[in-house]
Order: sequence, then C-alpha cells, then structure tokens
Amino acid sequence: MRKPIIAGNWKMNLTLKDAVAFVEEVKGAVPASTTVDAAVCAPAVFLAHLTEAAAGTDLKIGAQNMYDKESGAFTGEISPLMLKELDVTYVILGHSERREYFGETDAFINSKAKKAFEHGLVPIVCVGETLEEREGGKFEDVIREQTANSLKGLTVDQVKNLVVAYEPVWAIGTGKSATEQDAQDSCKFVRDVVAAEFGAEAAEAVRIQYGGSVKPENIKEYMAQPDIDGALVGGASLETGSFLKLLEAI
Ligand code: 13P
Repeated sequence: MRKPIIAGNWKMNLTLKDAVAFVEEVKGAVPASTTVDAAVCAPAVFLAHLTEAAAGTDLKIGAQNMYDKESGAFTGEISPLMLKELDVTYVILGHSERREYFGETDAFINSKAKKAFEHGLVPIVCVGETLEEREGGKFEDVIREQTANSLKGLTVDQVKNLVVAYEPVWAIGTGKSATEQDAQDSCKFVRDVVAAEFGAEAAEAVRIQYGGSVKPENIKEYMAQPDIDGALVGGASLETGSFLKLLEAI
C-alpha cells in the first residue's frame, strides 16, 4: 500500500512572517505521518525558519529547487548539502515553471535527482504536457520522455522512494483541473513508464501525485483513483484552512 503524500508548493509567495505563522498554526493539526505524508515546499530563504518551526512534528518541509553540485563557483545556486543541513526533507525538481521559464532540461533534472538521493533528500520530480502537446496527440511521447529521462540511471530502490508529480501545464493555476479520469489515466501512464524502465516492483512502490488546480472540493475524487497517491498543490496550499482541508480529505 502506498502512503498518500500531500505537498504544498508555495512557489514565490508569502512573506517570512506569514510562512512561519502558517507552520505554527498547521504543525499540530496535520494527521500522523503513519497515515499521510504532509509537506510544504517553500522559497529557499524561508527554509531554515520553517524547519525549525516544524521540528519534531509530522509537517515536513521541502525546497522548490536545488543545484546538482555540492559547492563551488555557482553564484545564486543552492546546494543539496545546504538543504540537508537545514533538515529539509523534500525537493521539487523540474517543475514546469522551471522547465518553461528557466530552460531546465530532463538531463539537468536527472542530474539533480541523483544528487538529491546522494544527500538523503527525497525528490518530487515533476512531469506534464502542455495543452498544445495534448491536443496535438503528443501526450504519450512527452510524458514517456520526461519520465524516463528525468529518472534515468536511478536505482530501483531510489525510484521506489521518490515521488513523481504529474502536472499537466494547462491545469496549473488555471482553475481548469483535469477530470479525475484523465488524471488517473495520465498517472497510470507514468506508472507504466516506470514499470517499463525499472520493473514492476519500482512501479508498484513509486508514489505519483496529481497537480493542477487541486482544492479541497476536488481532492477526494483524485484520491479515489487507484494510481493517484497524492497531490502537489499550489494556490490551495497558501492558506492554512484549505491546506488542512486537503489533508482531512485523505
Ligand atoms: P495550482 O494548484 O495553483 O494549480 O498549482 C499547481 C502546481 O503547479 C503545484 O506545483
């Protein structure tokens, strides 16, 4: 049985004060981590404060990105060692916004995923097609390529422990969420790609989230699908009330 994982992706939102207040309010109210994994992925400059605020609770803290080197002359970048030192648990890699606005490629995301594992961070690897790709009948090619190339060379054990977030670009921040059947079919397709690349055992264990306009009103339908193991949530994770409602729905 795969444990559900609900992760908020705050993107470039909130102030430090609001972020700490969020964690203070939510940390005692999240369900036990034996039933669901709950996390918020915050801007890097908030992380030290948030891991301190959430220490010893079932609310875990994630980063939204990292570099694929431990240290060196890489101005502006953040190393996996730095995240680890702050007790960060998860790191989102290859979000579609990073692919689109910052030119991140599957090969770069793959290199980061390997580094994340080297340093004990759990990657949340994002894949997803654009509307143009979907309407052009390219869904399968795009998702197969993104999934296989982003995970390339990882061990079966690593794949079993990572999280893949399937986020169709057309559903992100648009209010146009995928139907639960479309989301299920897409997450199943991701699982089939993992099976083809890494075998049945890895595919059975890997957790696959749906992301794209998830909110308290629609999370139950997604979670009822056999291949959807959780959600990566943007807008609805910015307020404590709706974040807790998402967790309560599990
Ligand atoms: P929204 O939930 O705001 O659509 O964002 C989804 C997302 O991109 C999470 O990573």
